[in-house]
Amino acid sequence: MTLTLDHITKTFGETTAVRDLSLEIPEGEIFGMLGANGAGKTTTFRMIIGLLEATEGEVYWNGGRMTYAGSGMIGYLPEERGLYPKLTVRDQLVYLGRLRGMKKADIVKQLEGWLARFQVPDYMDQKVEELSKGNQQKIQFISAVIHQPKLLILDEPFSGLDPVNVELLKQAVLDVKKMGTSIVFSSHRMEHVEELCEHVCILQHGQPIVHGSLKEIKRSYGRKNLRIHAD
Ligand code: ATP
Repeated sequence: MTLTLDHITKTFGETTAVRDLSLEIPEGEIFGMLGANGAGKTTTFRMIIGLLEATEGEVYWNGGRMTYAGSGMIGYLPEERGLYPKLTVRDQLVYLGRLRGMKKADIVKQLEGWLARFQVPDYMDQKVEELSKGNQQKIQFISAVIHQPKLLILDEPFSGLDPVNVELLKQAVLDVKKMGTSIVFSSHRMEHVEELCEHVCILQHGQPIVHGSLKEIKRSYGRKNLRIHAD
């Protein structure tokens, strides 16, 4: 199940957020999308999941056009966090899992597994608003993977997290990859993609300035030029 972006462009009035972006993301790979603020990463992700329609070009998934209806196979962790603060972790996940057609028992089983993996097994009945930012991010991550998606889109998953939580989430991303899920994630920081990704794309002002395997890019451009900027 390859994800293909075929010459996609998105304009908002006078602003071109993404310009003529073509990419192929092979099945089962972790793909990194790098770029500074406003480079067009979130807009690209919204086109992939079908939340925004491309002004030009198409997104293909598994050979067919990506539609919003087909996006049930996708997990999405948005940049602006979207949890329900007054719900308990269990209620939050049961609600989201049910929306994706899961049975309650399966949701709870998956959730228990993830909470144990994240070393917070007793968070089941905590209200989301009572959790630290790092722990809310873990719950947001679980929300994106609870239905075992074939494609996982993570918009700045490590942003604002302390190093311990960054490591826990990185390990979780690798665990999801082992299940055969294709993963695309964005970051401002080269060191995040270096450890996780085989291929990367660097966006600047809505245009792909570089894309290819990390090895090729490092050889051609040198590590120094690959620094985007710090968070
Ligand atoms: P960040 O790291 O800050 O999230 P980004 O790389 O995700 O940045 P986008 O959010 O995709 O970048 O924004 C790309 C450009 O498109 C920016 O100039 C932004 O202001 C503009 N843009 C994004 N969404 C809209 C919108 N709905 N209406 C108008 N302009 C928009």
